Amino acid sequence: VPAKKKEAVVLTDKEIIELARYGEILEEHYGLPQDIEWGVERGKIYILQSRPITTISGGKKAAGSKAVGAGSGKVLLSGLAAAPGVASGIVKIVSSGRELDKIKPGDIMVTKMTMPDMVPGMKRAGAIVTDEGGMASHAAIVSRELGCPAVVGTKKATFTLKDGMEITVDGGKGIIYEGVVAHAAPAKAAAPATAGGIFYSKPVTATEIKVNVSEPDRAEAAAATQADGVGLLRIEHMIIGMGKTPNWYIKNGKTEEYISALVDGIKTVADAFYPRPVWVRTLDAPTDEFRAMEGGEGEPHEHNPMLGWRGIRRDMTETDHFRLEVRAFKRLHEMGLTNVGIMLPMVQHVSEFQKAKALMREEGLDLDKIDVGIMIETPGAALTIEDFIEDGIDFISFGTNDLTQYTLAVDRNNENVAGLFSELHPAVLKLIEYVVEQCREAGVKTSICGQAGSYPEMAKRLVEMGITSISANIDAVAIVRDTVARSEKILIMNALRNKD
Ligand code: PEP
Ligand code: MG
Repeated sequence: VPAKKKEAVVLTDKEIIELARYGEILEEHYGLPQDIEWGVERGKIYILQSRPITTISGGKKAAGSKAVGAGSGKVLLSGLAAAPGVASGIVKIVSSGRELDKIKPGDIMVTKMTMPDMVPGMKRAGAIVTDEGGMASHAAIVSRELGCPAVVGTKKATFTLKDGMEITVDGGKGIIYEGVVAHAAPAKAAAPATAGGIFYSKPVTATEIKVNVSEPDRAEAAAATQADGVGLLRIEHMIIGMGKTPNWYIKNGKTEEYISALVDGIKTVADAFYPRPVWVRTLDAPTDEFRAMEGGEGEPHEHNPMLGWRGIRRDMTETDHFRLEVRAFKRLHEMGLTNVGIMLPMVQHVSEFQKAKALMREEGLDLDKIDVGIMIETPGAALTIEDFIEDGIDFISFGTNDLTQYTLAVDRNNENVAGLFSELHPAVLKLIEYVVEQCREAGVKTSICGQAGSYPEMAKRLVEMGITSISANIDAVAIVRDTVARSEKILIMNALRNKD
């Protein structure tokens, strides 16, 4: 479509007003905000489908908040709409994980950028606002998983907002209002098979729909989505939540404590999904995230931690730590949790995969009985996928947050270049398509666990490419499943038409 047409206004004012009226009628009729599909043919509007919105939680409501006229609050700030929902509450500015006591339930956490050690405070917060960060930053990822409204990358929230101010955060629009502003009643959380009392039957899709989990205490909410498994379980959140670096446990002779904590956290999720697969990712925390923790004093100061000593490259130099992770996996398998698979992050050369496998074998892991795969997060891994296939990977999963960052040279945490961060950039799509093709021919499973897997447009394209599964955030599973079902049907219809 030429740019001129893409930008052209397609609805008349009359149609917009009429659509808004239908929106109100439907919302009133069903008693909940609606996700409405409509079409216009020769000037006539047709409503094709209406159902309660299942992709937003409606946000947590701050205790004691009172509603005033809709939109009456002055706009104080704007940023990236990182996690949907609206919440009003009292501003608490936090500059490090040590100040979390300030956050009482329902307060609005305002910080330069969240760090994993701030997660306990994030869980209490009614909403989160940051100065820095893009859609794939820590604040955005964790807020979405917690169902906590968030606006990131405002550049100046910690300057503009003051402790004690009352504000309203609209995480769906990326706007912060002064005072308490009325918002739609929270949509009831979608029950597995019904939404708002209306029967919702889960479409069956050939492409598996999985879910991402970072916090074990979200395992039940994740399982309630009826996902076909966990496409990414991040363990660094568990580790950072323990407050001490892995090296601290090694140095203090407390490795058993460390392994047990890992086993407990992973087990919670693996139990909730058994026998559906749970791909657990080995540690991937940049050095700056470890520095704030006990035992992190000696962490190197890296010029660019995102390009630094993280993921598999750290685990292959600090092999003592990697061995502890492997022992945890071994224990889980011995407990019968054979649905646990291992996923290696930040791989860029097949030798890293080979070394990791050798260490796993040394620790007594039977690699014939456990799925081991890699994340595709570097163009290096994408362009040499044949080498990994030859070496026996069981699956790959696209980490599009990093793959986009490294393909486009756009720091995912830098709000100044957030506008350039696009997983739909042709270069990123080309890399994805190439990998899917190679893996499909070789019978290797393909998946995505980056944020882009939660975007319907990306899901549609991945189905067209023939991806095996898509792993989305908890709040996006339903919409991704619907999109995939429709895309698959369109593919079948097109194939039938071409046959005729
Ligand atoms: C990714 O890079 O897309 C990914 C899922 O990993 P993380 O966001 O934890 O870096
Ligand atoms: Mg990544």
